[in-house]
Amino acid sequence: MSDTVDKKKICSFCGRSLNEAGFILSNNIASICVQCVIDCNKYIAKEQGFDTVKEAQRQMEQESRRNKRKTSGDNLEEQAKLLTPEKMKAYLDEYVIGQDETKIALCVAVYNHYKRILNKDNLANSNDVEIQKSNVILIGPTGTGKTLLAQSLAKLLKVPFAIADATTLTQAGYVGDDVENVLTRLLNAADGDVELAQKGIVYIDEIDKITRKSENTSITRDVSGEGVQQALLKIIEGTVSNVPPNGGRKHPQQAAIQVDTTNILFICGGAFDGIEKLIKKRTDSSSIGFGASIKSKEDDYNIMKNVIPQDLVKFGIVPELVGRLPVLTVLDELTEDALVQILTEPKNALVKQYSKLFELDGIKLTVEDDACIEIAKTAIKAKTGARGLRAIVEKILTKIMFKAPSDPDIKEIIVTKECVTEDKAPKIIKK
Ligand code: ADP
Repeated sequence: MSDTVDKKKICSFCGRSLNEAGFILSNNIASICVQCVIDCNKYIAKEQGFDTVKEAQRQMEQESRRNKRKTSGDNLEEQAKLLTPEKMKAYLDEYVIGQDETKIALCVAVYNHYKRILNKDNLANSNDVEIQKSNVILIGPTGTGKTLLAQSLAKLLKVPFAIADATTLTQAGYVGDDVENVLTRLLNAADGDVELAQKGIVYIDEIDKITRKSENTSITRDVSGEGVQQALLKIIEGTVSNVPPNGGRKHPQQAAIQVDTTNILFICGGAFDGIEKLIKKRTDSSSIGFGASIKSKEDDYNIMKNVIPQDLVKFGIVPELVGRLPVLTVLDELTEDALVQILTEPKNALVKQYSKLFELDGIKLTVEDDACIEIAKTAIKAKTGARGLRAIVEKILTKIMFKAPSDPDIKEIIVTKECVTEDKAPKIIKK
């Protein structure tokens, strides 16, 4: 018996004593010290071809998530059979307020896109019809829901989703992100599953900032933005791209992963500030004559709805790229009513989120209707769309969120109109 106890105090692999090792794990057969466990992990990782234990672990986790996904059967094929454009829209309605026209255009595009992927073999046999990808371009001011729409769709479809900002992308060889990095992100979102990534959705924001004539802040970037457009064009139209698995610059030592972008759906978004002038010039020859100066913001907006692909070309997007984004839709500017709805109605509406936070401390949060209207008005003034709502609500509630957890007497917190207009503190009702 004493023999076993002694053995437990000495590592069977390196012979360190408990004193030396600090911790020893034992069973009745053998003992192992912490250092030997670490060495073992390193050895195993190296045997499997990884540089570090962390990398090996990440790979294992990805593998297990992938397997889980496979066994849970939530594959694209199964879902696509069940999802009609109408069902997709109903889902989007839960998260995104308004934007009906855009939602319909998007749902039809996505439905057709996946129909095309799922019937690839049938379509390949019919040699006369080739269904092209229905990549989408969303035009609308900031904070109107462009990203949210793309994100919600990806969530619904359970396909990997990546967001990229066109302004950070550069032509290969310049300082900044290579266009392929967009695909690295998609690959990461797919836990390294190339096949799944190849069916994913990429949202490219601020596509209007890489026009031919747009100014650049960096002298090391390509001077026109056109280089980036050309690089994007390749992946958007479909190519087999060499993707650095860990992002960054392409590196001779880093083995690239080949990703076929043929079936990746690209959704591009941008505000296209000033495009209304180009549309007006095209549609209305009287713009240089009578009444040209009587023009309200609303008019501008209605004009936007008449946008056609040629206007995008005039704006500075190369025609080939415009041609690869056949679904063109304009988002509505968010009205006061819409902003109030956004505050209160969607599944993860801001008021619901903050209410939940207070509820966890046993406090009821009430945001009065008048207060919601004032918050919406403030956001409209700030011209940040719904994006500005959170900052406004956060400002109103920060002090009380700091105080409330240490005051067990608080029963209810009421945000009134004056909290927004006069910076007053929310009303506190004690138990
Ligand atoms: P952008 O049009 O600039 O891409 P986002 O989609 O990123 O705007 O919107 C920013 C935030 O504003 C979102 O996270 C969401 O909370 C909110 N939001 C914007 N538009 C809507 C909308 N139509 N319905 C619900 N929430 C919205």
